[in-house]
Amino acid sequence: MSLGEGAFALRIAVLGAGPVGLEAALYGAALGHEILCIERGEIAAAVRSWGHVGMFSPWPLNVSPLGAARLHKAGRDVPGSGPEAAEAPTGAQYAARYLVPLSQDPLLAGRIRQHSRVVAVGKRGLRKGELIGKAARGDHQFRLLVEDATGEHLEYADVVLDCTGTYGTPSAIGAGGIPAPGERWLGDRLIRHVPDVLGKDRARFARRRVLLVGAGLSAATAAVALAELGAAQPATQVVWAVRRRLALPYQPIADDPLPMRARLHQAANQVAERAAAGGPLSYRPATSVDSITAEGHRLRVRLQDDRGTGTEEPFDEVVGLTGYGPERDLYRELQVHECYASLGPMSLAATLLGQSGDCLAQPKPGPETLKNPEPRFFILGAKSYGRNSAFLVQLGLAQIRGAYALLHKDPALDLYAAPAA
Ligand SMILES: Cc1cc2nc3c(=O)[nH]c(=O)nc-3n(C[C@H](O)[C@H](O)[C@H](O)COP(=O)(O)OP(=O)(O)OC[C@H]3O[C@@H](n4cnc5c(N)ncnc54)[C@H](O)[C@@H]3O)c2cc1C
Repeated sequence: MSLGEGAFALRIAVLGAGPVGLEAALYGAALGHEILCIERGEIAAAVRSWGHVGMFSPWPLNVSPLGAARLHKAGRDVPGSGPEAAEAPTGAQYAARYLVPLSQDPLLAGRIRQHSRVVAVGKRGLRKGELIGKAARGDHQFRLLVEDATGEHLEYADVVLDCTGTYGTPSAIGAGGIPAPGERWLGDRLIRHVPDVLGKDRARFARRRVLLVGAGLSAATAAVALAELGAAQPATQVVWAVRRRLALPYQPIADDPLPMRARLHQAANQVAERAAAGGPLSYRPATSVDSITAEGHRLRVRLQDDRGTGTEEPFDEVVGLTGYGPERDLYRELQVHECYASLGPMSLAATLLGQSGDCLAQPKPGPETLKNPEPRFFILGAKSYGRNSAFLVQLGLAQIRGAYALLHKDPALDLYAAPAA
């Protein structure tokens, strides 16, 4: 399907080549737009960095109809068909079997620039405080400052799709969501992404004293792996600090449409339950990090409960999995209305705030929720949810369809309904 009569090709900058960026780039290219996809690492860099983690959505929920049709047309393996349909890949399999092949689609040839970081996005001939909320801002191209190994460059675009995710911006470990005293100085000494406890990072944890902080799905993944390591290597000690005073850290989602997520919740709750009986892992509800100091090769951490009782304890490793958030400097010069709670774009955030339970079971927020005061600037993917960790790839696909329907002023436009390969 190319552009209809009278339509013109837009120059679209897609920031980030993760699942949502790649799918958005492919969708735009299939529509005949001039796509420039800019990725600071390799294709699917964030997904690869959690490559050892098993996804909780089965293949069909991670693949778009257009992506599958294009791979099929190219005579390539389409993951998730046949018996694989019920299986969920690891991040590494998702990247290798789907995202990388997708990035090699002829429609995207020469369109993806890797190892290039978008530093900032502004408007040509306009500042943030001009033409406030006016559609006329859309007449000015976006001006992008991009940095790579050769230096800084400028790019211009009619449309910007910010699909830069949140995995690169972990939240603070300290109580109250602010860095604990000492945390900022320790930088990379603290682990802020899901470690490969049973694989390449095993030596960092085996027979050592580890503090795990957090109660999201990333922390659940780490807790289950650390408990398994502790069972195999009893000299390993793990303290799992969770902020809320909960007997069990996870409240399962009723009739969870994602059985693997339900299993992860259950396994992590069992880890917490078993901790009461002793063993290598101790579960500490209502506990937060008050301060962290380096002490030789070890870290001394002051933990405090919600009644103000504190302990000072030595650890070899501190794993802080307290969530991720949007990198906002990138669009600081644009007119973006952010939610005061989630830091996501306001319109979508307001819709999500109104929802409860599992987002897959909820009606998908309509395209209008993707609009920002800045015309033709869309935040899609995990970043669009801000600090709300409920984002799923499936929701990103609906956002892509919505954004292009808005750009084409054609609510019926839907390349996923009848993907023409
Ligand atoms: C451990 C883990 C497991 C998950 N499991 C599932 C699951 O099973 N099912 C599901 O649906 N969702 C899952 N998610 C949630 C979500 O779908 C994924 O995070 C998904 O990767 C989000 O896709 P994205 O394209 O929005 O962002 P990302 O995958 O984070 O991609 C963003 C890309 O932008 C690049 N980038 C960032 N900043 C810049 C910049 N300034 N300039 C250029 N490039 C930049 C990054 O390098 C990255 O490659 C999981 C998330 C995590 C962390």
